[in-house]
Amino acid sequence: MIETLSIEDIIYCYEEGVHVKLYSHLPRSLDIEQLKAYHQRGSYDPGEKKVAIYLSHITDLADYKTTLFHELAHAIDDLLFDEASSEEQIEQIGLQTYQQNPQLYDFIKGIFKLPNTRFERIE
Ligand SMILES: [Zn+2]
Repeated sequence: MIETLSIEDIIYCYEEGVHVKLYSHLPRSLDIEQLKAYHQRGSYDPGEKKVAIYLSHITDLADYKTTLFHELAHAIDDLLFDEASSEEQIEQIGLQTYQQNPQLYDFIKGIFKLPNTRFERIE
């Protein structure tokens, strides 16, 4: 497994059809799995190749970035490796990416066309 996410990993996710959706409020139609996920900060759905970020559960910009890195690490893990990494390993990749390459967020924001969030407006 990788140690940190790179630009190449993000491009690969993008080319494989991974998409990122930000939720600021509870979606109107939620099934039970989505409802469970909503209580977390983010989720990755391998079937839909969809990263979901639940902004109402995120505290600040650092939390937002590490959550994005964490969920995209799940995506890369799903796309590249047969055996899934543990939640601890994925958490490590998210944190290490934030510590070593926090500006990767700007690339992610650009390629997935993410809107500004309330965290960025505060800074
Ligand atoms: Zn996770």
